Amino acid sequence: MDQYKFLLSEEQIPQTWYNIMADLPQPPPPVLHPGTKQPVGPADLAPLFPMALIGQEVSQERAVEIPGPVREIYARWRPTPLVRARALEKALDTPAHIYFKNESVSPVGSHKLNTALAQAFYNKQEGINRLSTETGAGQWGSALALAGAYFGIEVRVFMVKVSFNQKPYRRALMETYGASVVASPSEETNAGRQILKQNPQSTGSLGIAISEAVEVAATHDDTKYSLGSVLNHVLLHQTVLGQEAMAQMEMAGEYPDVVIACAGGGSNFAGLSFPFVGANLRGEHKARIMAVEPASCPSLTKGKYAYDFGDTAGMTPLVKMHTLGHTFLPPGIHAGGLRYHGMAPLVSHLQQLGAIEARAYHQLTCFEAAIQFARAEGIVPAPETSHAIRAAMDEALRCKAEGKKETILFNLSGHGHFDMQAYTDYLAGALKDYAYSEQEVAMALAGLPAV
Ligand SMILES: *Cc1c(COP(=O)(O)O)cnc(C)c1O
Repeated sequence: MDQYKFLLSEEQIPQTWYNIMADLPQPPPPVLHPGTKQPVGPADLAPLFPMALIGQEVSQERAVEIPGPVREIYARWRPTPLVRARALEKALDTPAHIYFKNESVSPVGSHKLNTALAQAFYNKQEGINRLSTETGAGQWGSALALAGAYFGIEVRVFMVKVSFNQKPYRRALMETYGASVVASPSEETNAGRQILKQNPQSTGSLGIAISEAVEVAATHDDTKYSLGSVLNHVLLHQTVLGQEAMAQMEMAGEYPDVVIACAGGGSNFAGLSFPFVGANLRGEHKARIMAVEPASCPSLTKGKYAYDFGDTAGMTPLVKMHTLGHTFLPPGIHAGGLRYHGMAPLVSHLQQLGAIEARAYHQLTCFEAAIQFARAEGIVPAPETSHAIRAAMDEALRCKAEGKKETILFNLSGHGHFDMQAYTDYLAGALKDYAYSEQEVAMALAGLPAV
């Protein structure tokens, strides 16, 4: 019988996260204090994050131990399956082998719980009982809400208003896990009030919601802030999935020629790809590594590599990354988790080094791929994930055209069960592609902080 699933046992959940810092030919540029423009120190970050996470942010250690209690909770759904997409291969009539790592089997339906758990654990360990955060499409908010429930932490979520309205069930899920949710921009923070004064109709953005969540943490001693992507420690936690995938590819007797993931802030991309990038950097293998983003929010493919704020109000430290400008408001595409103006500094650095490649697609062609995938493999992917699927299918079709039997691995970062309105709209022909606004980006880039 043909084998479909490659499964590891619970004991085979990695003991450590993989830190790519140890294998970089040169370190990424330092994070700067927004006032002094000098490199930030632990004391600058202490109001926002527990010390353990600040330590991981700058760690050079290759293998960072996964705490016992985190690994134990991982075991409730990890290791996740690696699946050979034989039906999709057949539908595409490609000689390529297509594999996907199925992160949609987590209780919240995406990879995000991998870091949410770790962050909740370290906060709890340092006596923190309240976390504030933002969420775009709602996946991160639900992951942190559940992690908060597991570790007894109150979670306050600022949810981008357009998603708050489009995705009432995500909000219901967060509340079911015990979090409190507010639409952003809100009247609760200076940052939110400022935006609403300028534009009462604002549908929000991830950058605005981050400003609000950071402000709450910065102004409350008992509250820390938690971010679902972008930062080094978040990317680190996600490598649990890439390391599993590497072991599972070995079980399948193959090594990927190309490793693909969608990229919003860059965490699921890093999670899957960094162990493979590390093997490339150490000269052990030569896989192509591809990040896929929306053509309407193309930070890696069209953004500028520059120091910028992580949020809209300019409250976060300055990080060097591919950015469309912190005031850029991405159009309301359905892949809400990919609507962020910047890209993780580590992913940006690898792009600068030529260690990864990037590609952008419009949403209609991604939905088309998602539906073909669903009809073949049965899993309805999140709109974010459909970007990776589009790229994987295009690579498989290239293999077909070139008569090449390559091995393709992509990350199924999440399912789309809470995104069925987007599918309804797509199937009704009511979705459109948004042009990338050269002019708006130029305006936003003009506002980059001087460094
Ligand atoms: C949040 C999310 C993404 C994008 O975030 P990254 O940090 O780039 O991974 C992609 N897919 C799913 C399912 C998500 O929930």
